[in-house]
Amino acid sequence: MARKVIVAGNWKMNKTASEGVALVEALKPLVADVCECCAEVVVCPTFTTLSAVVEACKGSNVKVGAQNVHWAESGAFTGEISAAMLKEAGVEYVIIGHSERRQYFGETDATVNSRLKAAVAAGLKPIVCIGETLEEREGNKTEAVLGKQLEDGLKDLDSATVGAMVLAYEPVWAIGTGKTATPEMAQETHAFIRSKVAELFGKEAAENVRIQYGGSMKPENAEELVRQADIDGGLIGGAALKADSFAALVKNAIKGAGC
Ligand code: PEP
Repeated sequence: MARKVIVAGNWKMNKTASEGVALVEALKPLVADVCECCAEVVVCPTFTTLSAVVEACKGSNVKVGAQNVHWAESGAFTGEISAAMLKEAGVEYVIIGHSERRQYFGETDATVNSRLKAAVAAGLKPIVCIGETLEEREGNKTEAVLGKQLEDGLKDLDSATVGAMVLAYEPVWAIGTGKTATPEMAQETHAFIRSKVAELFGKEAAENVRIQYGGSMKPENAEELVRQADIDGGLIGGAALKADSFAALVKNAIKGAGC
């Protein structure tokens, strides 16, 4: 079964609302010919930039995601945001469990799981990030780490939900460092992730779930990465902050998918 490519730009803590709108205004014409039948293009701005970017993306093929979501409906959770707030702002996707959240803000597989359940219940489409550190890779622990992140992070979800979601495999050592996993290395890990999803949620979920690669993906390596059988797109940091590089990356990813 052909899975639709998904390329999402994670803007992290970059771009004010006006800068974000300028970026998508520049991006829209560059990706206007990307057929939604073969690829989805998503941008994930900061919370204060979401509404303006949602408005600017209306009528285009650029979709909008948030960078986090809280598990509670409302309440005393200073600095957090609820799924209903994101839905009302017109957001479609949400990144959950990014390694920077895990590293700097104490995110765990348990909190990933709670956030994920809230997102799914509200009808948001989750992009769940998993990945190993350099130390874990060098210690031959990659599969054990990813397996646990999947077991605990996706706990209690049903197969259909898992099949419809997006996973982002982001080796922590490749994020923002300029070091990319080789296509072969990334493919090997993506194949492991898909086999683990099959073990936990069945063959159909494993065939349907889209697995993005993330970690210093750029226009120059996107085609080769997405050419790999189990790589269905990318979660992009640095290269998503400029319209021309993000658009070029999207086009090359589509080429890699043979679409
Ligand atoms: C990311 O933050 O998810 C990421 C992959 O960043 P970069 O592309 O800059 O490595």
